[in-house]
Amino acid sequence: MTENNQKIKKSDILSWNKVTLDKILQSNDMIPGNFRGKISLDPDKDFVLNSQIGQNLENICPTNAISYKNPPESISLDVGKCIFCGNCQQETPQLIKISNNFDVAKKRKNHLLEVFSESVPFGKTYEEIGNELKNKINKTFGRSLAIREIDAGSCNGCEIEISALTNPIYDIERFGMHFVASPRHADLLLVTGPASKNMEKALKIAYESTPEPKLVIAVGACACSGGIFGKNYATTGGIDRIVPVDVFIPGCPPRPQALIYGIMLALDKM
Ligand code: SF4
Ligand code: SF4
Repeated sequence: MTENNQKIKKSDILSWNKVTLDKILQSNDMIPGNFRGKISLDPDKDFVLNSQIGQNLENICPTNAISYKNPPESISLDVGKCIFCGNCQQETPQLIKISNNFDVAKKRKNHLLEVFSESVPFGKTYEEIGNELKNKINKTFGRSLAIREIDAGSCNGCEIEISALTNPIYDIERFGMHFVASPRHADLLLVTGPASKNMEKALKIAYESTPEPKLVIAVGACACSGGIFGKNYATTGGIDRIVPVDVFIPGCPPRPQALIYGIMLALDKM
């Protein structure tokens, strides 16, 4: 019963679900405004970099993703190390902008390094990327892309986003992608975690067991660079130290749209 004492009919609920789901699938509205996606060095017109600003930024970044150099005055941002805590944007909103765009994946690790770049809005929705992917998969992988997920020591945050790919909202199976239980059946490896030293050998074996042609995607700040763990006695500092990587998807964790965008970049390599 509602506040007005009116009965809710089953047909009402079904129509609400349809409206909500259609809206989610057809637009980018499903990404909340406060989601921290693309981060860039995008100075306002009147912004002037000085040593105080540069050093403050270096100090507040928990993963050393920001480096300041002087002279000449320059600041760089390694997106692969960023865990999207938002400290830097709060400290210097005139220079650092974090948008809710999810097109953050790059094909080369050095492309994750930002030095005063312009942010170009990415106009495609999840549905459009998914359909583009479906066409590519039809052409290159005979209508089906088999994905094996490998947890190389992650906190499981990245896994939660990866498993969301199979829920009724994102539902990647309709685009021809599915998860498999063995690297022997896989075309693509999605790897998370820094990787821990205990997982180093297992990751190598999984890579070698995957038949050619194969693709490897580093998912999350940890897999891209070691992330919050960095490189230490127990971790290797990024999976590209162990296996060749085709695409790096930054984020802590990256959301499903960022994952599917990264998979699309990886398929461009085939
Ligand atoms: S948002 Fe990224 S770059 Fe900025 S302070 Fe946090 S970890 Fe560092
Ligand atoms: S990138 Fe973040 S969410 Fe993903 S495994 Fe590392 S700490 Fe966890």
